[in-house]
Amino acid sequence: MKHACRMILVLTTATVCQYSLAQAKPNIVILATGGTIAGAAASGTQSAYTSGAVTIDAMLKAVPGIEKLANIKGEQISNVGSQDMSFDIMLKLAKRINELLSTSAVDGVVITHGTDTMEETAYFLNLTVKSDKPVVMVGSMRPSTAVSADGPLNLYNAVAVAADPQARGRGVLVVMNDQIHAAHSLTKTSTTSIQTFMSPLRGVVGVTAYGKNDWYNNPPWKHTSQSEFDISNVMKLPRVDIVFADVDMEPDLIDASVNAGAKGIVVAGVGNGNMNKVSVDAAARAVKKGVIVVRSSRVATGMVDRNVEVNDDELGFIASDELNPQKSRILLSLALLKPESSSQIQQLFRTY
Ligand code: ASP
Repeated sequence: MKHACRMILVLTTATVCQYSLAQAKPNIVILATGGTIAGAAASGTQSAYTSGAVTIDAMLKAVPGIEKLANIKGEQISNVGSQDMSFDIMLKLAKRINELLSTSAVDGVVITHGTDTMEETAYFLNLTVKSDKPVVMVGSMRPSTAVSADGPLNLYNAVAVAADPQARGRGVLVVMNDQIHAAHSLTKTSTTSIQTFMSPLRGVVGVTAYGKNDWYNNPPWKHTSQSEFDISNVMKLPRVDIVFADVDMEPDLIDASVNAGAKGIVVAGVGNGNMNKVSVDAAARAVKKGVIVVRSSRVATGMVDRNVEVNDDELGFIASDELNPQKSRILLSLALLKPESSSQIQQLFRTY
């Protein structure tokens, strides 16, 4: 009898412990948008595949043990290769994240996304999500059907990062191949390698291995809850074009962009955001017509500063600081939602 009583006590304690452990798990919502992580091929070794062919439920089934990290709910926002990501989907995504994170029922969000434009969506969300709760983006370089697919472990690690209280307040993070990157700094560097994302100027924010996270540094840029950008009532973003500079470039690309109605132009310049003389003249013409011109660089790393070889003060250009052309376009599109002077926009490029 005494023995039986002890058994009951042990069982009850175990049940209570298990129950409170289950209670302690954070609530994470996975928002799926498509990409190679949801891609499928006809065989495990062929390179041709279709992005965004697999649903979030099927992706979760491929990650045994993920349910131990968090209480997970999945939602399909879109199912596209990220080459087809659009501002419409990005606005929908940001609004849904803000809605989810405003309730105490959600502790963090993970977004599955293609890698091609992941840095753009990450940076857009970094500026438009209004919460300090973890927002983590993840993708893969190999489709779900590949031999040695990288998606399942990337997804496991992304949920582990989103479930980690130390991920709070760091802005939008990208988890790929055991590394944790900040939205401001990362860029895609390889068309095919699973080690594609790098943060050349600032380094990684941390690393993660099988769900164990190690945190290194915090990006200094303003983001999320401190961001001034509010898209809650925005349905459309102003047109901003990127013009690629190269040897003997034709200046009429800039004129064409102005004539097509661009409100802003980002030049992916050579070197320190440069372009040939005739294109500088075309860009100056654009500024005179009220178009905001930002000088960024086609070079993979380094910053673009004011008045180095181009007289920005005289010509009215903005220097992109550390933002590459594709992220400069995101910041400029948001900045143009309200009237800002050229010097105010320059300040935004130093702050975000
Ligand atoms: N084209 C794919 C995409 O961006 C590539 C990938 O996800 O790695 O959706």
